[in-house]
Amino acid sequence: MADFKVLITDGLDESGQSILRKVSNLDDKTDISSAELLKQIGDYDALIVRGRTQVTAEIIAAAKQLKVIGRAGVGVDNIDLEAAKKASIVVVNAPSSTTLAVAELTFGFLLGLARQFPLADSSMKKGSWLKKEFEGVELHGKTLGIIGYGRIGMEVGKRAQVFGMNVIAYDPLVKESDIKQRGAEPVSIQDLYAWSDFISLHLPLNVQTRDMVGKQALSEMKAGVRLVCAARGGIIDEPALLAALDSGKVAGAALDVFTSEPPGATDLVKHPRVIATPHIGAQTIEAQSRAAADIASEVLAALRGQALRWKVN
Ligand code: NAD
Repeated sequence: MADFKVLITDGLDESGQSILRKVSNLDDKTDISSAELLKQIGDYDALIVRGRTQVTAEIIAAAKQLKVIGRAGVGVDNIDLEAAKKASIVVVNAPSSTTLAVAELTFGFLLGLARQFPLADSSMKKGSWLKKEFEGVELHGKTLGIIGYGRIGMEVGKRAQVFGMNVIAYDPLVKESDIKQRGAEPVSIQDLYAWSDFISLHLPLNVQTRDMVGKQALSEMKAGVRLVCAARGGIIDEPALLAALDSGKVAGAALDVFTSEPPGATDLVKHPRVIATPHIGAQTIEAQSRAAADIASEVLAALRGQALRWKVN
C-alpha cells in the first residue's frame, strides 16, 4: 500500500513521476480548474505545481491533509507562502534545476539583440534580402550589466566573459568580494545604468523590485542600451520601456516574461526592436527532467520529515 497521496496539477516530467510512483498514490490532474482543485485538495498529502496553478489561501484552507507543496522550478509567486506557513504546510522548490536553461536563453537573447537574427529570419521568410539593414554590433568589448548576481546571473556572467565582454554586477545581497570571486566587477546601480551597453535582469520580483526598471532608471541608462529580461514580469515597467524604445533611448529589448501572461499581441510584443518569447526560460528537456527529479525527492523528504535542501517558507 502506498504511503502518501500526491497530486500533480501542472504536469511533471517522468523523471519525477517515476520516483513518486514507487512510494505514493500519484494522481496527475494536469490543467485541473481552481474550482475542482478546491473540491479535491482535501484528499492529498502533497501537491506539486509549476507556474500555472494558483495555490491561494482558499485552496490552502481546504487542504486539510496537505503537508507539503512542491514547485517544480524556481518562482513561488503563485503560492500563498504566508497562508501555507500559518497552516504548517512546507513549501519547497527546485531552484538550481533551471539555472543553465535560463542562462543559455539569456545568452541567445544577447546575441539576438546584437545581430537581430530573429527579425532577419522573419524578413527572409517574407522573401526579403535586407543585408545592409541588418548591420549589428559585437558583444566583444561591450559592457554587460547584470542586476541580480545569483545562480542565473553568475552563469550569464561566465558566458559573457568568454565572449570578451566586460561584466559588471549589482546585487545588494551578495558581498562585493563574492561578486568579484564570481568573475564580475561589483558596482552601484547608478554606475551599472550609466556604463552598460547591455543590461540583463536576474533578480526576483518583490515589493522592492516591482517596476524597478521604470522611467527614472531608463533615463539613467546609456543611449542605445539593449535590455534583457528572463527573470519575472513586473520588474520592468512595460509602458516606460515602450516609450524608451519609441524614442530610441533603448535600442532593443528581449523579453521572456511579462507583467501579465500571456500578454497578447501588445505594442511592446509587436515592436520591431523587441524579441519576445512566451516564458520559455526553463523549457528545456534537461531542465524539466532535473526540476521533476529534484522536486520529487524534496517532496518525499518533506513527507518523511527528513532534512530539506530547498525549503522556501
Ligand atoms: P537567485 O536567488 O539565485 O538570484 C537572484 C539574485 O537577485 C540574488 O543574488 C539576490 O541577492 C538578488 N537580488 C534580490 N533583490 C535584488 C535587488 N533589489 N537588486 C539586485 N539584486 C537583487 O535566483 P536565480 O535562480 O538566479 O533566478 C533569478 C530570476 O530568474 C528569478 O526572478 C527567477 O524567478 C527567474 N527565473 C525565470 C525563469 C524563466 O522561465 N524565465 C526560470 C527560472 C528562474
